Amino acid sequence: MKEFDVVVIGGGPAGYVAAIRSAQLGLSTAIVDEYIGKGGKPALGGTCLNAGCIPSKALLDSSEHYHRIQHKYASHGIKTAKVTLDIPAMIKRKDEIVTSLTKGVAGLMKKNKVTWLQGHGHLELGMKVVVTPQKGKPETVQAKNIIIATGSVPRTLPNVEVDQDRIVDSTGALEFQEVPKKLGVIGAGVIGLELGSVWNRLGAEVVVLEAMDDFLAMTDAQIAKEALKEFRKQGLDIHMGTRVNSAEADKKGVLLKYEDAKGQYEQRVDKLIIAVGRKPHTEGLNATEVDLYIDESGYIHVDEFCTTNIPNIYAIGDVVRGPMLAHKGSEEGMMVAERIAGQQSEVNHDTIPWVIYTWPEIAWVGKTESDLKQAGREFKSGTFPMRASGRALAMDETTGLVKVIADAKTDEILGVHIFGAAASEMIAEAVVAMEYQASAEDLASIVHAHPTMSEAVHEAALNVSGRALHI
Ligand code: FAD
Ligand code: AMP
Repeated sequence: MKEFDVVVIGGGPAGYVAAIRSAQLGLSTAIVDEYIGKGGKPALGGTCLNAGCIPSKALLDSSEHYHRIQHKYASHGIKTAKVTLDIPAMIKRKDEIVTSLTKGVAGLMKKNKVTWLQGHGHLELGMKVVVTPQKGKPETVQAKNIIIATGSVPRTLPNVEVDQDRIVDSTGALEFQEVPKKLGVIGAGVIGLELGSVWNRLGAEVVVLEAMDDFLAMTDAQIAKEALKEFRKQGLDIHMGTRVNSAEADKKGVLLKYEDAKGQYEQRVDKLIIAVGRKPHTEGLNATEVDLYIDESGYIHVDEFCTTNIPNIYAIGDVVRGPMLAHKGSEEGMMVAERIAGQQSEVNHDTIPWVIYTWPEIAWVGKTESDLKQAGREFKSGTFPMRASGRALAMDETTGLVKVIADAKTDEILGVHIFGAAASEMIAEAVVAMEYQASAEDLASIVHAHPTMSEAVHEAALNVSGRALHI
């Protein structure tokens, strides 16, 4: 029987990073992954590389180019002839990016001498992992440490069958071969808004049905309000407080039945995306049989260092508590590998940045004003609108704002919230500031290049003490 210092189950951004870091630290490492990529070939990279972060960003960029040509170029004095779409070419480009990256991860495994055991892994008592490959016989390996990084899968709705043709989940929504005339999206969360925006920009009429009354309840309330207004202006027909009761596919499309406080409705759409969130994936892991504790929400129970109830078994990424974000899983992967190697690493879960990839983007780190109100903590905040930024004006990207929230007495930054073009990049500065427990005054004293979008962060920080210069 082969023996390894570390066996990682799951080859997504949590698992493959844990494997690389373990190998870098001199631990003999294997990674078990069962994902079968689009061409029927095994592929590392998990949801993120194969059917999440990366392919969605590829389509996002394509759709943004299309939108800009149609709606933004004329004001720049650039005239275009008739613009046409080639969706199969767009999808092919997306697939090539995915293949290049998943092959890249396989290359990284080789470079770091990590053994890739292709197949489904399950736990057996005595720190054993049984790997059942796509083809061939199962193999049992012995591990000194096991890191579970089995990720998450899309949530489904009762009585709604995902056929990946008319009714799709996020994976199917990355594969449409033509723009649906009318597209339904259930769930106005991170994924529903991102994918709904892509197909809206490419010309679909998009209706979004969301059960909650509050739009993007986890974000800053002022930003959520502006964002809802902006997305509706862009053409997303967003209905809040709306519960979908059934969705039935037929040859022509999908019949949706839903209700809100005012009544019951029916609507036909050509395609329907189910985007009602994701759930931790522990199926087939044999967790119960080895007494691995899974909490009532289905997550593998871990402490702050990602240790489970079983000594030397760890769990990281989407399969454990916390935001389902690739970078959160990767950081946990590095921490666990380093702790196995005897280092004192930790992850600061309070400074994990969030990004919603709509256009403009929404990004934030730390607390919202409503979090702080609920906790009874006194704070002050400073905002700066993008329309007052010279660079935003030059880029014709004036929608949105930056908000910096600081402790009322100590001035320590407690949260930074951005709605605007390039928010996903601008938030990095706020993460660094918060990681070093900077005050709003510290951020206000840092020189920002002119003209840049990040000057808006500087101005919002200045405005925490009422000193913004350009409003
Ligand atoms: P996963 O990436 O889900 O990987 C788990 C891997 O383990 C998979 O390959 C799976 O096949 C394998 N596996 C599971 N069980 C077993 C088993 N028993 N044996 C062998 N292998 C197994 N996050 C961001 O941070 N930024 C984004 O922009 C972003 N965009 C997204 C867009 C979409 C459309 C979706 C769906 C998700 C997006 N996410 C994004 C979320 C991100 O994809 C996840 O947070 C991330 O992939 C989680 O990483 P992970 O390693 O924990 O799990
Ligand atoms: P996220 O977890 O960010 O991907 O968001 C998923 C969204 O789907 C949440 O805002 C949920 O409120 C929403 N949702 C869940 N079930 C339903 C339903 N039956 N009808 C409409 N929206 C739903």
